[in-house]
Amino acid sequence: MSTLQGKTIIITGAAMGLGLATAQECAAQGANLTLVDFNEKALAEAKADLATKFPKANVLTIVADVSKEEAAANYVAETVKVFGRIDGFYNNAGIEGRQAPLTSYDVDVFKKVIDINLTGVYFGMRHVIPVMQKQKYGRIVNVASVGGIRGVMNQTPYVASKHAVSGMTKNAALEYGRDGITTNAIAPGAILTPMVAEAFRQVNPADPKAAEDGYAQANPTKRLGQPSEVAKVVAFLLSEDCSYVSGQTIAIDGGESNSY
Ligand code: NAD
Repeated sequence: MSTLQGKTIIITGAAMGLGLATAQECAAQGANLTLVDFNEKALAEAKADLATKFPKANVLTIVADVSKEEAAANYVAETVKVFGRIDGFYNNAGIEGRQAPLTSYDVDVFKKVIDINLTGVYFGMRHVIPVMQKQKYGRIVNVASVGGIRGVMNQTPYVASKHAVSGMTKNAALEYGRDGITTNAIAPGAILTPMVAEAFRQVNPADPKAAEDGYAQANPTKRLGQPSEVAKVVAFLLSEDCSYVSGQTIAIDGGESNSY
């Protein structure tokens, strides 16, 4: 039997990139899914794609902006109404913001990045955890970044928000371990998703492929990561088998963050 068979998993930012890849992995393992995203069209496409590839999967979709607390309350309540419980929470929705030096960073963009990447992740945990406490079981995987364990030039709010996600992950692990809930974070390096493709366009608008190749050369593996390589790790962290790992931020970056 596969490890996520019959489990109910909420995934935010599920319409594309790492969220969609994890939705596919969880569906392949037999999980029930609540997929949350504010991009209605892409979410509908993701649902249709899952229905084709995994016709037996139960998939609930909710169009919502995770930075609004009422949205988090609603996706949690709807999931409990439809599936009866929440076994796993992939707290993934996030944005990069625009790239600029710290002193000239656009303050509105700064606040938006913090609202989605930090406050949105907090609202998700705030509403999911009470359900998991009642069950005396839960697995939470927050999405930080290598930018949550290292600095990244010209990405001050992103780096601040991702360090904060790593910090909240430690606190949730401390406060709710007694309730059978593990909380971990992942720190992906450069994984080829729509977000990263946009980052390469910002780094080198004339030749984004050159920016991509430069990134790949700096990595010990000489390549970027694929979303499915992140999804496999997340699926394990969301599984019952991952019962004594908590409060960790796990780099998924081909080893790159070890270099000096
Ligand atoms: P992506 O842009 O490809 O996909 C993100 C998804 O989240 C989109 O479907 C988008 O519509 C959704 N989303 C964004 N803000 C939202 C909001 N407020 N409410 C609801 N949905 C929202 O990005 P990705 O590369 O898949 O990134 C996913 C997560 O992984 C992010 O938190 C990102 O910071 C993190 N991450 C990605 C990488 C990478 O290399 N791709 C590296 C480190 C961390």
